Parts: sequence; structure tokens; C-alpha cells
Amino acid sequence: MPDHQSAMMPTPLLTSDIIENAILRYPEQRIVSLMPDGHKHEYSYIEAHARIKKLANALSKLGFNKGDRIGTLANNHYRHFELYYAIGGSGAVIHTLNPRLFEEQLEYIIKHAEDEYIFVDPCFIPLLENIQSRIPKVKAFIINCFESDMPSTQLAPVYCYEALLDKETSDFDWPKLKGTDNCGLCYTSGTTGNPKGVIYDHQSSILHAMMSGSSQFLSFNEWDIIMPAVPMYHVVAWGIPYSAPLFGSKLVFCGDKLDGESLYHLIDSEQVNKGFGVPTIWLGLHNYLDSLKQDTDLEPISPIPSLKMVGVGGAASPTNLVKAYAEKYDVYWMGLWGMTETSPLMSASVNSPSIQKLDPESRYHLQSSAGKAMFGTQIEIFDQDNQTLAHDGIQQGILKVKGPWVLKEYFKGEGQENFEDGWFNTGDIAVINPEGYLRIVDRAKDVIKSGGEWISSVQLEDAALEYASINEACVIGVTHPKWDERPILLVTIKPGKVFEQEALIATLKQKVAKWWLPDAILQLESLPHTGTGKLKKIDLRNEYKDYLIDKIQ
Ligand code: ADP
Repeated sequence: MPDHQSAMMPTPLLTSDIIENAILRYPEQRIVSLMPDGHKHEYSYIEAHARIKKLANALSKLGFNKGDRIGTLANNHYRHFELYYAIGGSGAVIHTLNPRLFEEQLEYIIKHAEDEYIFVDPCFIPLLENIQSRIPKVKAFIINCFESDMPSTQLAPVYCYEALLDKETSDFDWPKLKGTDNCGLCYTSGTTGNPKGVIYDHQSSILHAMMSGSSQFLSFNEWDIIMPAVPMYHVVAWGIPYSAPLFGSKLVFCGDKLDGESLYHLIDSEQVNKGFGVPTIWLGLHNYLDSLKQDTDLEPISPIPSLKMVGVGGAASPTNLVKAYAEKYDVYWMGLWGMTETSPLMSASVNSPSIQKLDPESRYHLQSSAGKAMFGTQIEIFDQDNQTLAHDGIQQGILKVKGPWVLKEYFKGEGQENFEDGWFNTGDIAVINPEGYLRIVDRAKDVIKSGGEWISSVQLEDAALEYASINEACVIGVTHPKWDERPILLVTIKPGKVFEQEALIATLKQKVAKWWLPDAILQLESLPHTGTGKLKKIDLRNEYKDYLIDKIQ
């Protein structure tokens, strides 16, 4: 053999290995699911494994070819977990469909992915009924429920999930796959243009699970009780359905119950110690805990004692929440950054001796950042001429990334413009400080270009949230006759609180340069969110684009 060739075995890393390993090491570890009717389903990894194999038998009877896409339109629960493993392990690709997409987008991605079958939760059946005539290539729909709960539906042909499993045994040999065979597909939200598909392979999924669950990052182990309050229908619930079983943690699925009260009861009853979600999720929990305080007139001393850490990504972490979680609940807020294209986790502000040595304000500042890049990945910032910028925490540039779980092309080769010199252009603008902490300044499309200078909507929102009465803050750039764009601030106010423009402006002045101050502040009843809980800035930009023009004229 030529000496430049690897002498190591090309043994594949496969997602089915995770569940096989789990029943060897942690057979009795539990998976709890909060179901739509409010009851909890609970079983062990060993029981999950048996059902996964029955499902794999059922899938092979339905019939598919290697690499075919099989769709799921489902919330977070044990059946969706089984589908992750049975579909990927059988050599097909699980295409998680996002029920929050517009009908046209859902139709587009089902057709684009050429989904063969769709496994659907009863609550999402109407979404498919509305578009069924336009997705004729889907061979059948499988309803994720018991036979006794089968709803009447216009979908056809339909099967019942549990009836399919009842017919099968749990004897199933996983097919021999390669690590580079595909196992998952997720589409970006498509806020501009059509959604693009990101296809994950077994190896990238395993490497992502191994590193993200390791002690360098989320530190998962057998003692952990983990609640991903991030949907399994978007970016693989941050890989947690793979990383938690890999490290033997108990999993708690919250179904579709993402409000503060439901999360509080689930965390408390299951003794969850690590939770994951976008900032809005933790804002909801915080507001609920605050309302308890008002009801009882008691200062709750750590009302969620089991919870020790929340992993928060998908949008910028508001510093006031980082602080509240630390000081009121003794919970470490770990800022995370990632995107659909990066499997998704790439960087985190991990709890460490060096971060604990800092004074609280500096610590909260770092926790609210996107943290340091995970081993195996690279992050870099570039100027408009594609030159790298200094990591001085000041210079802002376009964030590009590399890594074994970063895509090298979109599904069916779309979006070529995002790839250059082996880097993936994230579309985010960021700074990196000398210690390697990444901070997302803004999305390129959200940054406000005022007279040729940039204003970070993220930083302005963070400053506004320092004003205690504000519940949520959203800054958008709107057309201005002189400066091209100027920021306006849209806020919602906490129940029972008052809001004074002057006081808010005084708060902002302490945090940002004068020319960053918004040209208008509007109080709204609510702000629109995407299905994954992020502010839907595109809608607000469309609605308010002429707001200042109209005022000025
Ligand atoms: P979408 O939001 O379009 O559904 P993703 O779920 O892939 O797409 O989100 C990825 C984007 O979310 C990133 O490009 C970035 O703009 C934003 N994001 C993720 N984590 C953070 C973070 N820690 N700070 C600021 N923005 C973040």
C-alpha cells in the first residue's frame, strides 16, 4: 500500500450505532414525552430500540430505495424519536417538515425533496389535506397515533403508525451503510426566496453528536435530564435526539407545549437539569416565574432548583435574561451559535473556571455571546474584499465557517454563491475577541445601514431590554430620505408595567452611541415570531418600511 494512504479501517459511523450503544450501556435510561392530551408517555431506551426495529420492518414493507426521502410533520415526542432512528438506520433520509412554514413553502419542499411517504401528527393533518392534490408523488401518509385514535381524514392512502408496528417483530438487521450515506434533510426557513435543503450524512451527524455532547461543549452524561424545547422538525432539535442517547442522558420531550407554565411544570416534575431553546422560550419561563412571585407575594428562592443550565441559540441572547437566570434562578445561560447549514451547533459560551473568575457583568457579557468554536470547526471574519479581519473584538466582518458538519453544498446544488475557497458564508456579521469568543453583531440583512455606517439591531435590542418594563424589543431599519436607513424600535411591555419613552431613551443613551438612537419607538401589543420563536423581522420591515417617510412628509 502506498505510504501516503490511510492504514486505518474505514469503519462507518452510523446513527443506528447510537441506539445500539445506548441499549448496551444505558438500557434502562428513560425517555419521557408530554403528549397533546396532557398525559406523559415514558419508556426505556431498550423499549425504544425494540419499537425502532419494528418501525424499520414496517418501513421496508412500505418499500423505498436507499437515499429516498421520508417526511415527518411532527412535534417532539417518542414516535418522532423512533422515526429519526428507523428512517436513517434503514438507509432512507428523514426529511423533517416544519409545520410553521407557509402552505406554498410546505408544498414546495415536499416536491423538491420528492418525499415518498409522510408521517404526520393528527394535529397537522389539515396542513396536508390542503395541499394533497398538489403533492401527488407522496405514496402514503402515516398517522402518528393508536388505531383507536385514528381521525377521519381526506388524506389517502393512510396508515396508522401503531397498527403498522403491531404487525412487526423487533428482529431487524440494519443494512450496511457508509458513513457518507445521507440520513437527514432539513430546509432553511426561506425568509428570502425559496427554502434551501441541507442534507446531513451519518458521519456528520455522529461527529456533531460526539463533539457537541462532549465535556468541551454541552457535557452530557448519564446523570443528565435533558429537555430540548427546540422542535425536532427544525435542525434536528440541535442534534439532541442523537447526542443525548450517545452519552446516556434521560430525554424529556415537551410535545407542543412551549409556554412558560407548561415548561415549568415539566422541568419541575421531571427534574430537568439542562434545557435548550431560543431566547423567547426562556423569556416565557421567566415571565411565568415572575407572575408566580406576584401571585404569592413571595420572592421565590430558586423556584426551579433542578435546572442548572440552559443552552440558548438561534437568536442573540439578551443580557438582562442571562443575568436574571444567574441571579434569580442560579441557572447558567450558555449562549450557542449555529444554523441549519451547520448541523447546527458550532460554538458555545461554556461554563469554565476562567469564565467563573470574571466579575458578574463581564461574565454575563461573555455568556450572551456565541462563545468559542467547537473543536474540529473553524470560524473566520472577512471584510468586503474577502480579507480576514483581526480578532480584536471590534472589527466586524462577514462570518464564514468550515467543519466536518458544515454543508459543502445545498441539496440539489442550489445557492452556489454561499461557498467560496472552502468556506461557507453564513450571512451573519460578527466580531471575534482575542480569546476567540464569537459575537453575532447582526444578520447581514438585518443590520441597519445609516449613512454608510452600520448599526447593529441586535445590540440596540439588547440595550432596550435593560429597561425593566420591556418584554420584547425589535429594531428594524426603515427607509430614510437622508440616511438611506434609520432604526426604529418596536417594543412590547410586560403586563402591569408602564412605559415612558424618555426613561427608555435615557437607558439607551447609557449603552449606545447617540447616532444609534432609534428615530421612533412604537409600543405594540405583540411582535410576530417565526415557527422557531425568532422575531419575524421581514414582516415588520415590510409593514413599517415607509414609516419615517410618511412622518417626515
Ligand atoms: P432561520 O432562523 O432562518 O430558521 P436557522 O435556524 O438556521 O435559520 O438560524 C440561523 C441563524 O440564527 C444564524 O445565521 C444567526 O443569524 C441566528 N443565530 C443563531 N444563533 C445566534 C446567536 N447566538 N446570536 C445571534 N444570532 C444567532
